[in-house]
Amino acid sequence: MIWPAFIALQLAAAAPPLTMSDGQRSVRVATVASAKGPMLRADALAAMIPIDIRHDSASSYTLEIWGARLRLETGVPMVRAGDDVYPLASAPTMDHGHLMLPLQMISEVFPVAVPNTRWDVAAGRLVVFNAASSAVTVPRAIVQNGGEVVRARRPNYDRSPSVDDGRLPPVPTKHYRRTIIVDAGHGGVDNGMTGPLNGSGPKIYEKDITLAVAKRLGAQLSARGVDVVYTRTADTLIALDDRGRIANRASGDLFISIHVNAANPNWKDPGGARGFETYFLSEARTEDARRVEQMENAAVRFEDTPTKIDRDDPLSFILSDMRQNEHLRESSELADIIQQSLGKMHPGPSRGVKQAGFRVLVTAYMPAVLVEIGFGTNAREAAYISSPAKQDALAAAIADAAMKYVDRYEQRVSGVRAGAGPSR
Ligand SMILES: [Zn+2]
Repeated sequence: MIWPAFIALQLAAAAPPLTMSDGQRSVRVATVASAKGPMLRADALAAMIPIDIRHDSASSYTLEIWGARLRLETGVPMVRAGDDVYPLASAPTMDHGHLMLPLQMISEVFPVAVPNTRWDVAAGRLVVFNAASSAVTVPRAIVQNGGEVVRARRPNYDRSPSVDDGRLPPVPTKHYRRTIIVDAGHGGVDNGMTGPLNGSGPKIYEKDITLAVAKRLGAQLSARGVDVVYTRTADTLIALDDRGRIANRASGDLFISIHVNAANPNWKDPGGARGFETYFLSEARTEDARRVEQMENAAVRFEDTPTKIDRDDPLSFILSDMRQNEHLRESSELADIIQQSLGKMHPGPSRGVKQAGFRVLVTAYMPAVLVEIGFGTNAREAAYISSPAKQDALAAAIADAAMKYVDRYEQRVSGVRAGAGPSR
């Protein structure tokens, strides 16, 4: 039988090829134009990626790549990976017995659902991390759970620790090690804010404070039995979107970004502004939240090839938004616990839990918060957040809060599983 779509594919003019690069070599895969964008042969990806294509039934296929299983059906414009569903620009089709995929699946779904891949927007190519070139390792926690390969992104009793062979039987375990991503804001040419105002006291750079506190937070979390992944451990610039990607590749359970606040110079007494606040991802709700959102998102100007998730690529923004919605409630609860914990030790006032659209949080598909630990524009608070002893205390307060959140989450999960019924 000949399908109209199949004819359309054959008649279509040649489209630009897909380039895949692993840092040592590049491979080009031919694409064919279709009404809804370029398509390519799934099996051609094997030139660089270890892909296993299984024909499950008449129209359904499973692609397995580095333990990630992508399930799709010809004629249906979506793909499932674990619990997640991603819309496709067009439905997979068959062409001369070959499974054809939309290029958009490679550029948008692979980076979030397949380990070791990143889409280089500027060059329009798939970057593949292999054992030799990778700075970021394959997620530890790809485990088998009732026949489904899932990425362990959040605490879950049923998932076994560090099993990355999908063929092993599930090993029920009560305590698998959690992974918390610790993100030191800014770095390299991006100093973040500088302070304090009026030249009072020694000059501080936000990037130095955030790194010092992030390292202490990581040490405190490690001491509490958590695996820690840092987005940076030196004075280097990491693109905002890459911070989230590092978090996703590491299969983090939580993402905590550390920043220092700066007063708006137009305020009546900018040097007097003090206090700490914790943000979770959402639209900015207030003028003040918008100020912090603009300040923290401005770091993108230092990046060579800033990707524009929200404007150039509405679909990927919607995807990010959909994925993040699952974590909104959890992120707001984590933010609340951090605010309470800081409130017990921080001399400045609590400015509360706030919402804003931080790019660094958009790409992290896990409960994610951004903590402004104080105002570097205020002389007293600049001295406070610069003190190693106070940095230790701030880190301990945030680490305590993260552990409290994780424990609460696990209690909820186990309560439901034990038959206690829904928690609300
Ligand atoms: Zn900042």
